[in-house]
Amino acid sequence: MKVVALSGGIGGAKLALGLMHALGPRELTVVANTADDFEHLGLLVCPDLDTLLYTLGGRADAERGWGRAGESWGCMAALAELGGPDWFQLGDRDLATHLLRTSRLRAGETLTAVMSDLAARFGIAATLLPMSDDPVRTRLKTAQGWMEFQPWFVGRRAEPAVTALDFAGAEAARPSDAVLAALADTELGAVVLCPSNPFISIDPMLAMPWLRAALHGCRAPVIAVSPIIAGQAVKGPTARMLAGFGLEVSATAVARHYGERLSGYVVDSQDAAAAAALAPLPVRATRTLMVSLDDRIALAREVLDMARSIGPRR
Ligand code: GDP
Repeated sequence: MKVVALSGGIGGAKLALGLMHALGPRELTVVANTADDFEHLGLLVCPDLDTLLYTLGGRADAERGWGRAGESWGCMAALAELGGPDWFQLGDRDLATHLLRTSRLRAGETLTAVMSDLAARFGIAATLLPMSDDPVRTRLKTAQGWMEFQPWFVGRRAEPAVTALDFAGAEAARPSDAVLAALADTELGAVVLCPSNPFISIDPMLAMPWLRAALHGCRAPVIAVSPIIAGQAVKGPTARMLAGFGLEVSATAVARHYGERLSGYVVDSQDAAAAAALAPLPVRATRTLMVSLDDRIALAREVLDMARSIGPRR
């Protein structure tokens, strides 16, 4: 069964790893949000793509929860000594990714081609694709005005509260041919919306009219997994954003946000009763907190089983 998973960084990568094991890597295409990408110290940093690259490639730091395992911080220390910006942590090994990627992009390669090569270097047999080779950048409106994504997310630790979002460039951005081909594949068995932040990880992809149309036209069922468990986000600002937009902080509210796009929804067992209100949308309740690799694989199996039971949309 072929699957396309739309993913942000940390929450998305957990399920993507489970899907890779449950399906076999060659069946899986992961499309990553690139609207968090930014230029820092002259380098293009792609947080979600790199979280996926390190997670699927077995190079992620499990304890810290982001970045590469076995990381060292010599460059950051030297940068701080020189009075350079040290608000965005870049490990030495991680820097190698940004250096190589940026130099290859400047030499004229596409982000899709560079990431495909880096994934192959890490032995990843799944397909890892940026949502587009065109730049899309999330901007956030707060009580202090519009802010760029990383200065808000990392620099200000996701403060102040967000009142509106803008995905600059999304209207004109074209998903790569590889993304469109994966969604148009007649053998596609499911599109999975990973348990990522719906507003800043999944919505930037859905903000591209071309991707929306491809999703609308594809026959495979679209199954989302809730990033909210019992009224709380496992990590990050998803719950605060729901509240800030005046929505209920619940798994149900995330499904309502995705609306008619969903063919099925996977929630945590703790949210089963409340999710009954989503009927007639098929809902499956299971353990959705992914701590171990077995948790990731078990949740992936539930998602795939649900997709099989729902079958093609038309
Ligand atoms: P980011 O781009 O690194 O912020 O990562 P994502 O957008 O992919 O994921 C953030 C979301 O993942 C948050 O809303 C978390 O609640 C959710 N998340 C993280 N771990 C888990 C988990 O184990 N289970 C579920 N259901 N959601 C999770």
